[in-house]
Amino acid sequence: MNELKGLRSLVTGGASGIGAATARLLAHRGAEVCVLDIDTRSVTEPLHGCQADVSDDASVRAAIQAAVTAMGGLDILVNNAGMGAVGSVEDNPDELWHRVLDVNVLGIVRTTRAALPHLRASHHAAVVNVCSIAATAGLPQRALYSASKGAVLSLTLAMAADHVREGIRVNCVNPGTADTAWVARLLDAADDPEAERAALDARQPMGRLVTADEVAAAVVYLASPAAASVTGIALAVDGGVQGLRLRPG
Ligand code: NAD
Repeated sequence: MNELKGLRSLVTGGASGIGAATARLLAHRGAEVCVLDIDTRSVTEPLHGCQADVSDDASVRAAIQAAVTAMGGLDILVNNAGMGAVGSVEDNPDELWHRVLDVNVLGIVRTTRAALPHLRASHHAAVVNVCSIAATAGLPQRALYSASKGAVLSLTLAMAADHVREGIRVNCVNPGTADTAWVARLLDAADDPEAERAALDARQPMGRLVTADEVAAAVVYLASPAAASVTGIALAVDGGVQGLRLRPG
């Protein structure tokens, strides 16, 4: 229950979905938690809320400084904030490419850069990036999103190599389609959201989406002392989508 007692954590995009589940679980396991999000109105005690946009360097630096001041340091950084984009390379204008890469990739660069001096002072420093099966799966109609998550995967490996000798572990979690507001928004845009939801469930090897709590459990494992020798890995929480490679018939 209390294996994370004394550790100080920050979760970006922690006001909703996977980030919120991660923030709750970190707190439940005894960590102090700061949620960095563009909208922190839903963040309640004992969690700290730090309003910031990961695409704005000044706001990220200010939020991380505020978090460190509030908690007395930083041991765990969860880079979870992200945005989606639907379409092939013909569908998305350059502006959207810049925006999604700015949030999904550079957002991680900004938070990590601001956090590193504090992580170096920690005896248990861990960074967990929330990536996606889109990084390697070749999903249709997700060119921009997949490219951004492919970059998150390689960035995770490069960061793990750069900081391993400093005692800072860096890993990522690759969720499959997870049952969050993100997916609800996509379904709501469909002509028949209920039928679309049933079809989405049916396409999963387990016949259901993964839950935010299941992804959070993997994130918290990688962030915890139980994973002290684990760095530079991508842990899939996808109900078997990638590993099983099921084919009809
Ligand atoms: P969500 O929409 O429920 O939550 C995203 C949170 O990020 C929100 O609280 C939002 O306010 C915050 N956020 C968005 N842009 C931000 C910014 N610029 N600065 C700060 N905060 C920002 O989404 P989710 O489904 O929980 O997704 C979280 C992460 O998981 C994302 O990185 C996403 O790519 C990844 N992921 C999601 C799924 C899925 O199916 N839901 C699958 C694979 C990977």
